Amino acid sequence: MKKILLLGASGSIGQQTIDVIKNHLDQYELTGFSVGKQVDKALMILKDLKVAHVYVKDAEDAAKISEAYQDIKVYHGQEGLDELVEAADYDLLVNALVGFVGLQPTLKAISLNKDVALANKETLVVAGELVKKALVDHHVNLFPIDSEHSAIAQCLQGNKHEEIKKLIITASGGSFRDKSRDQLKDVTLADTLKHPNWSMGAKITIDSATMMNKGLEVIEAHYLFDVDYDDIEVVLHRESIVHSMVEYVDNSIMAQLGNADMRLPIQYALGFPRRYPINTEPLDLVKVGTLHFEKMDMERFPLLKLAYDVGRKGGNLPCIMNGANEEANFAFQKGQIAFLDIEALVFKAVEKAKFKPITSIEDILEADAWVRNYVRKQIEVINK
Ligand code: NAD
Ligand code: MG
Repeated sequence: MKKILLLGASGSIGQQTIDVIKNHLDQYELTGFSVGKQVDKALMILKDLKVAHVYVKDAEDAAKISEAYQDIKVYHGQEGLDELVEAADYDLLVNALVGFVGLQPTLKAISLNKDVALANKETLVVAGELVKKALVDHHVNLFPIDSEHSAIAQCLQGNKHEEIKKLIITASGGSFRDKSRDQLKDVTLADTLKHPNWSMGAKITIDSATMMNKGLEVIEAHYLFDVDYDDIEVVLHRESIVHSMVEYVDNSIMAQLGNADMRLPIQYALGFPRRYPINTEPLDLVKVGTLHFEKMDMERFPLLKLAYDVGRKGGNLPCIMNGANEEANFAFQKGQIAFLDIEALVFKAVEKAKFKPITSIEDILEADAWVRNYVRKQIEVINK
């Protein structure tokens, strides 16, 4: 029985992880989980699963759960997530938090020698080097949940790292893949949240439309698979059937295919290296008929190019880019800025930032705090 601690249980990945666990109760036991403010979702999970540790963001919500379940240890507040990660009994941490907040719990779990299944790509973008070092120091495994990275991990099975020629990451193109840059000026939040191929949390859906998501994924792939940026290619693939590929030195390309359903990469990360039956829709290639691949236009999607540049330079810059994007993405969700302001703010912050190497978590916290403050001030200027 594998014991699982799930962070971000109320989110899109979190809820699908609960589904995977419920379908394999002979394999997995959920021993703890966290939600942010959605205490109703926490109560729903507790109806069906017996859990020992729960985190909610606010003290009042924590009190509600404590009252209803006196044998559950409930955590809340700023330090609470770390306390949960430290106190719970588990073999695998599933990190389905969104954003920078996912970093410290990941590092904490690794320091406690726990394996991690990671949906929270921001962790690797802001602290790839530190996370990699911690994994080696603590002999811990990191299993990607992001579908592209799960696909690559699957295509790498049984092959040698030195025989990789390149990674080919597929991109759906996001909500605005058929709009010109000119047409992006007036798009609304509601337009942005209509992803053509699937439903996800708000932040990643917006990141998919700006193509920041694919940029974050390039950096994530660089750290996960130890491949140079020159050997990571992104191709536009509208059908989202091929989830990514690996090309080898003999020109053989391995691809992983399936219908777009995150329960497959989640289940693969939870069960690695085993595969188990799943209740998703199987892929019917005859019905799909044709698959299309197109070159990515870096002028149309400048944030993808920026991610390559920032990834190559390294140091604090990926963290700066990530923090600027989180602040701008959030401001767009609150209606404070226009869609194209997201991109402009991220570029401005990266240009303004002073390059610094990263040697500790403090360096990362400092870069993140600086950029959030900088971007918030820029947003105030926009709103004046
Ligand atoms: P979501 O917004 O649906 O859920 C995020 C979860 O994080 C929620 O449970 C929320 O309560 C929690 N959370 C957010 N801020 C918090 C805070 N300050 N303290 C405590 N909890 C907090 O997000 P999602 O779409 O499930 O994405 C989660 C991660 O997985 C992201 O990094 C995303 O890029 C990645 N990812 C998502 C998908 C997808 O299909 N949704 C696919 C690939 C990768
Ligand atoms: Mg992805």
